[in-house]
Amino acid sequence: MRINNTIFLFFILFGFIFTSCKKDTESVIDDSKAENLKALGVSAEDLLSDDIYKSMTVELVYTQSYRPLQESIDAFKNFLNERVNKPEGITYIERTIPDISGYPFTLAEIKEIENQNRSEFTVDDNIAVYVFFSNGNSSSDTNTLKTLGSAYRNTSIVIYQKTLVEVSASQGIILSTLEATTLNHEFAHIFGLVNIQDDDIHQYHEDISHDKHCKVEGCLMYYESNSRSAQILKGRSVLPQLDPLCIEDLQAKGGK
Ligand SMILES: [Zn+2]
Ligand SMILES: [Zn+2]
Repeated sequence: MRINNTIFLFFILFGFIFTSCKKDTESVIDDSKAENLKALGVSAEDLLSDDIYKSMTVELVYTQSYRPLQESIDAFKNFLNERVNKPEGITYIERTIPDISGYPFTLAEIKEIENQNRSEFTVDDNIAVYVFFSNGNSSSDTNTLKTLGSAYRNTSIVIYQKTLVEVSASQGIILSTLEATTLNHEFAHIFGLVNIQDDDIHQYHEDISHDKHCKVEGCLMYYESNSRSAQILKGRSVLPQLDPLCIEDLQAKGGK
């Protein structure tokens, strides 16, 4: 009995030491980026509240051919100011990079572009978000369904800027309305909407037929890619807003 116990303990200890070493090695390799490589929605509270992070840096990376309109960026800044609690403010860093060849891009390629071009990471009490305005379309586009943007990690967003320009022209949607709506919509996904981590206080407003979107028609988080919502945006210069249920979900996580 005693011998067995000793042997058992030894293996536990050995296992523990082995695991710690392994973990240490991993954290040494990727320590500076680890906070920005998490799953979508897990940093909602960190982005919205001032509990851990007092300030935010938003890095906007666009290519030479496709800078979003200033009007869209201003509307996006207003949206963030209305929702996040960052007493030390939000800093915006804009960077232009050369056009990237090889589109349409798969999500794996979008992640590789981030690897190559992202320069801002979460440090101390400042949380960083990366937004890439792509000069190429998404590889998942079809003739009838276009991907306008995607929030693919806890602090990573791609906006398919080339697609926005094309959809704006073909659907008669004002470009600044489409750009700002897409930016705000994707940012709300990294805020955890709708029910991305299954922890929203108002779970019943999630649209069952369109996962992780809101079923309130006209809400910013209403499923964006169907023809009805394209019609909603047609000719409009007033941006879709979050409905009260979505706002309360954000407030439950420390948002304004
Ligand atoms: Zn969406
Ligand atoms: Zn909503």
